Amino acid sequence: FHSKLPRVGTTIFTVMSQMAKDFEAINLSQGFPGFGADPQLFDLVAKYTKDGFNQYAPMSGIPELRDVLAVKTQRCYGYLPDPDQEVTIVSGATEAIFCAITTVAQPDDEVILLEPAYDSYEPAVLLAGANPIHVSLRPGDFSIDWEQVRHAVNFRTKAIVINTPHNPSGYVWTEEDLKQLAALVRERDIYVISDEVYEHIAFDGRSHFSLVGHEELRSKSFVCGSFGKTFHVTGWKIGFCIAPKELMTEFRKVHQFVTFSTVTPIQHALAEYLQNPAHYESVSEFYEKKRDFFCEGLKRTGLDFKPAQGSFFQMAYFGHLSASSDRELAKRMTQELKVACIPVSAFYHDHQDPKFIRFCFAKEENELAEALDRLQN
Ligand code: PMP
Ligand code: GLN
Repeated sequence: FHSKLPRVGTTIFTVMSQMAKDFEAINLSQGFPGFGADPQLFDLVAKYTKDGFNQYAPMSGIPELRDVLAVKTQRCYGYLPDPDQEVTIVSGATEAIFCAITTVAQPDDEVILLEPAYDSYEPAVLLAGANPIHVSLRPGDFSIDWEQVRHAVNFRTKAIVINTPHNPSGYVWTEEDLKQLAALVRERDIYVISDEVYEHIAFDGRSHFSLVGHEELRSKSFVCGSFGKTFHVTGWKIGFCIAPKELMTEFRKVHQFVTFSTVTPIQHALAEYLQNPAHYESVSEFYEKKRDFFCEGLKRTGLDFKPAQGSFFQMAYFGHLSASSDRELAKRMTQELKVACIPVSAFYHDHQDPKFIRFCFAKEENELAEALDRLQN
């Protein structure tokens, strides 16, 4: 059998979560909240299932959810997308990213990925028959070396995938990053797949710059988001894509035959829940407290770190410790200290060893406190 993804194995998130289970470790590896969501959200899902909203939703999503998402987009980023033609509800940001890459990438095109990169980007590029071109983020703060990005772009480049706030580093784009990308897109006529799943998790007064809020960039971009991240329900696998009409028309052709449509009662519940801006405007503050709590404790360990600027991940450097590799360290931490984390080399195509591990701090304080106590060893 000729594998289309010969280098792909089981994802590191599955591997580490399983190892955490096997060794009864606190699981700070795979990114998911260790606490419940707002009971109001569950009541709404119960209401809509009981009220009979259980058959196929429209292919592009129910109008109520597209409408309220468009209004939220205007409120947050100053642009009102056309809910009928520019907004599609999908089964998680993973689907949005997959469909967007499939929509634009032709065989032998090149797609730029910035490493460390979320693990779903490269397989999507490869399945489209295109070639991923990897550009490393700056070691240290994981900011973008735009000179290097420009260097990687040529006449075969079809698109670039970006991610802010960034998983795993937490780096949040600055206005300068936005300017640099706009200049590149203008010069080279490429598309942008913008992974903004942590849009509502940015710290220390930082604003998330969505490409939807940038007039020039939004005309070339697929902006991908996830309700699972914002509302602490990652298992619901529901997200969205916002793109200009011509791009969205093509995107929907792909989405139509990947999943066709997305879970109906949850769309109705979210449409109602999203009407209250407090539900998403409070998320940064909520997670900033957790980041502060976790970082305070991390100081007591031998690990080195800069507090994350956004997302619900904290990276830590161990280059000064006697660990051979991040995978070895993650394994030993899980088995011996009973705290699971993610080795950041998993976010690099060539598995280079950047000497970083990643913790998910989307957990209750007592769980984080216990993990930190164990890490002090
Ligand atoms: N992109 C990034 C950077 C992520 O961390 C995640 C979370 N798994 C996703 C995309 C996928 O989001 P979803 O679960 O909505 O598919
Ligand atoms: N996005 C999550 C993370 O980075 C994992 C999602 C998954 O398991 N695919 O940990």
